[in-house]
Amino acid sequence: MKSYLSELFSSIQGEGPYVGERQLFMRFCGCHRDCVYCDTNTQRTEAVVVERIAGSGIFESIPNPLSVDDLLEWVRILDHKKNNRHISLTGGAPLLQVKFLGELLPRLENEGHRNYLETAGDLPQQLEAIIEYLDVVAMDVKLSSVTHEKNTFPAHWQFLSCLRTYNVDSFVKLIVSDETDEAELMEAVKGIHKSGGKNTIVILQALSATERVSNVPSVQQLMRWQEKISGVLPQVRVIPQTHKMMGML
Ligand code: SF4
Repeated sequence: MKSYLSELFSSIQGEGPYVGERQLFMRFCGCHRDCVYCDTNTQRTEAVVVERIAGSGIFESIPNPLSVDDLLEWVRILDHKKNNRHISLTGGAPLLQVKFLGELLPRLENEGHRNYLETAGDLPQQLEAIIEYLDVVAMDVKLSSVTHEKNTFPAHWQFLSCLRTYNVDSFVKLIVSDETDEAELMEAVKGIHKSGGKNTIVILQALSATERVSNVPSVQQLMRWQEKISGVLPQVRVIPQTHKMMGML
């Protein structure tokens, strides 16, 4: 079995409660969503861009698609110092490649790696198919006032319930802009509470300013939303995308 990836590199996790940790990132092509703020090229690419030496800024291209054997060989090269705490499966939407992951993840586990999934958090059946091989799941709950897409709350609640059933270390990311609808935000918070429980860790992540994005929330908005959310889910933290602040991959 083969899969299309866009990037392979070792870097610092810039988001959420694992911020600062060294991870080996596998960025998969393809996404079923179309968030208005998306800054990732989710199209299939002819080649995978690989940074063999972490932080060097020197890249090489290897042809797509990659087999599980090819990818494991690259993991051995990129993690030869064994200093990546997790393999970060990111995208795009890695869960669209669930069959490939079903072959890859047990083999990564056998080689001593811990698997960290970054996901839009709306494909519960695909999650369940590989959940036994996941050590950490970073899931989004998407707000339509921010993504400008249709709301998919029921799929998020099913996804989060599945994480609780299997007791997987996880947290929920709420990406917010200055257009965030407070009523929608609080509806999401109640849904998280109901499906994930009161101790669910919630990360309030402000959109980062880019060439395409200028509608970042104000400090006052972030403080107000954190206060409101903490009345329902006390473990709410405001954490920006720190890798972007540091100019990292
Ligand atoms: S889910 Fe992620 S990769 Fe997909 S469109 Fe949204 S921001 Fe982009």
